[in-house]
Amino acid sequence: MRDSMEMTARWAARSKKYFEEHKHEVPWAVAPGREHVGTAAIGYAGERQLASAAELRSAGQPGAAVPTYSGKTQTLFGIVQGGTDLALRRESAERTIEIGFPGYAIGGLSVGEPRELTREIVESTLEHLPKDRPRYLMGVGTPEEIVEYANLGIDMMDCVLPTRAARHGLLFTSEGKVSIKQARYAQDQGPLDPNCGCRVCHRYSRAYLRHLYASNEVLAQVLNTIHNLSFYLDTMRQVRHSISLGEEYRFLPGAGLDRNLEL
Ligand SMILES: [Zn+2]
Repeated sequence: MRDSMEMTARWAARSKKYFEEHKHEVPWAVAPGREHVGTAAIGYAGERQLASAAELRSAGQPGAAVPTYSGKTQTLFGIVQGGTDLALRRESAERTIEIGFPGYAIGGLSVGEPRELTREIVESTLEHLPKDRPRYLMGVGTPEEIVEYANLGIDMMDCVLPTRAARHGLLFTSEGKVSIKQARYAQDQGPLDPNCGCRVCHRYSRAYLRHLYASNEVLAQVLNTIHNLSFYLDTMRQVRHSISLGEEYRFLPGAGLDRNLEL
């Protein structure tokens, strides 16, 4: 774990140096007056002209566009490692902060270790990370977990779970998990989640979603994914609302969401 942590520290220093030297060499250009739109606008029809072939090449590649930039750059985060060793986590945090980044990620967790251990390491590592910078927990998690970690002070998370589970017919709802492939939903004319405002829950029945899944229709994956992402976004909206009220958001009791999903 020490060797890996040391390697991460070396990577962090090299990445920071390279990033600072090259951060303005971006392969896209933001039109004057549209700087506030940010890079996320790329791909929206009408927001900007399509990138030319030269623009699409990475900086430094033969034929790459001459960089033009509006002053905005991407953001480089430092990643804290150290496995399950609290002292190594602390050292990794201190050394990453010493290099200096606009945000910090906690990596190497949620990879199969017991959930109590994940929480212990996150809590302990958070104590060493500045509160005035975004703190990002990588690879987490279930709806229940994202609420739990937001309560601890985590600002950002990322996970394949909502989309991967959706493709396997596993749906997160305010009433618990629904495995839409089950025969019990074959005649169920109710919405997937009566408390969800997404377009899938408004428009389609559980029976129809089950039919699509059983028929191996790709539309099943699309609709299931729309709902699961909506559910996650709703969950985070409620978390933000609670934070604005100064309260800790607690997930609905009995939702029955657990981590050991059989996919
Ligand atoms: Zn929905």
